[in-house]
Amino acid sequence: MQNFLFTGDIFKGSRYEKGHPLDMDRVWPSVELIQLMGWIDNEQIIKNDPAEINELIKFHDLDYVQALKKAEENQHLPENLKRKFNIGIGNNPIFSEVFSRPATAARASIRAVEMISNKKAKKILNISGGTHHGRKSQAYGFCFLNDCVLAILKAIELGFQRILYVDIDAHHCDGVQDTFANNKNVSIISIHEKNRWPNTGLIEDCNIDNIINFPVPERFNDREMDFLITNGVLPFAKTNNLDLLIIQAGADMLDGDPQSRICLTNNAYWKAINDLLSLCE
Ligand SMILES: [Zn+2]
Repeated sequence: MQNFLFTGDIFKGSRYEKGHPLDMDRVWPSVELIQLMGWIDNEQIIKNDPAEINELIKFHDLDYVQALKKAEENQHLPENLKRKFNIGIGNNPIFSEVFSRPATAARASIRAVEMISNKKAKKILNISGGTHHGRKSQAYGFCFLNDCVLAILKAIELGFQRILYVDIDAHHCDGVQDTFANNKNVSIISIHEKNRWPNTGLIEDCNIDNIINFPVPERFNDREMDFLITNGVLPFAKTNNLDLLIIQAGADMLDGDPQSRICLTNNAYWKAINDLLSLCE
């Protein structure tokens, strides 16, 4: 079985509004770099369209999704809807592809689960996914749609029963935890910076059966990450006999990223992801 990378043309040149932390090209240059390095063949790159509304309302409320679509079409929303849905406010600006871009990422995550379920793929990288803060009817923390939640819901729908979701982004996966806390089909492990927005993901949440949180301090480094994966994450994962692994590997724990004060290098991400993937061998 082949491995694939999912992306879409919409990411070519797509940026959040000027001055926003995501006012930068990241997704498409990463795809080009991966190609230039020869890490995958062209036929392993799959481009997809945005998800349809009926796919998105498996999690999100219909009136929220419709408002997001309208915001893209008109590049504007009435004040009452802005406040109701947190769209066009603070760090969740209305930009040219405010619906189509996250909907493309969401379709990729949903489709990835379908392809793995159909045994058409073993491993899939959705390079634009990971919008783990998105709420049912509100944008939150740069996240307009929650592709992680949509992927897990699709997996449950397709019959996966022991889904392990591991989140190694600097920020806690509040949208995912709140949706699946106490869900017997899903286990959630998060490593994130302590006292960092959204200030959730407390160690005390480990009292919830299917949640393990590792809030880590500033300056957390590669060796400490390796220790935590080896002694905290892998032993738990091995006892769970998982049938699907979803990793959210937000790159903002890299040293120098303005979104955190964590000091990991690429090596820590590669090692952590390889160690986690060994669970699927
Ligand atoms: Zn983050």
